[in-house]
Amino acid sequence: MARYTGPVCKRCRREGQKLFLKGAKCYTEKCPVERRQYPPGHHGPASVRRRKQSDYAVQLREKQKVKRIYGLHEKQFRNLFEYAAGRPGVTGENLIVALESRLDNVVFRMGLAVSRRQARQLVRHRHVEVNGSVVDVPSYRLSAGNEVALREGSRDLELVEASLGARTRPQLLDWLALDEGKRVGRVIRQPVRGDIPLAAQEQLIVELYSK
Ligand code: SF4
Repeated sequence: MARYTGPVCKRCRREGQKLFLKGAKCYTEKCPVERRQYPPGHHGPASVRRRKQSDYAVQLREKQKVKRIYGLHEKQFRNLFEYAAGRPGVTGENLIVALESRLDNVVFRMGLAVSRRQARQLVRHRHVEVNGSVVDVPSYRLSAGNEVALREGSRDLELVEASLGARTRPQLLDWLALDEGKRVGRVIRQPVRGDIPLAAQEQLIVELYSK
């Protein structure tokens, strides 16, 4: 299935909140969620006045939101859910940790790209190495101790410079380390749910997929 290439801001407006899919613009007053607080489309303004959502609709929207934040297709997301369900522990938390452990997400969290979409492009275009070898699979699952670096010829890419120098760059998370000058980072430890700044109710996703 082809990846969605339409206007990403519509996706935020559909979920009624910022999903931070675009980088710097997301932190400005130009963000369309700030200016138009109703879903996109002709019936968007009217739909906010409609009756209360069903439980199913609430669960579905939560799943769509998380899926869109991490930029996955339904099948990829479902497969990751099955993986999370087969692991010991709480399925919802396992799911979020598995999403966070993806290579494209870690590149984004380290600040080497302004969005997960841009991070995925860096990986796909073979700019990223894991433990000294090029990895061009955005879904590559990292574990504690893995080293993530930009290839030698890619360290001075304009988009990397811009991302590292961005005023809106989020703080580096506790479970990651980065040597900005060398463009080398490390996964210090596996994250737990409390380490992950994601406003989502993953239990709703578990309920949806458990029907
Ligand atoms: Fe979403 Fe960012 Fe667009 Fe705002 S600017 S609607 S947060 S992608």
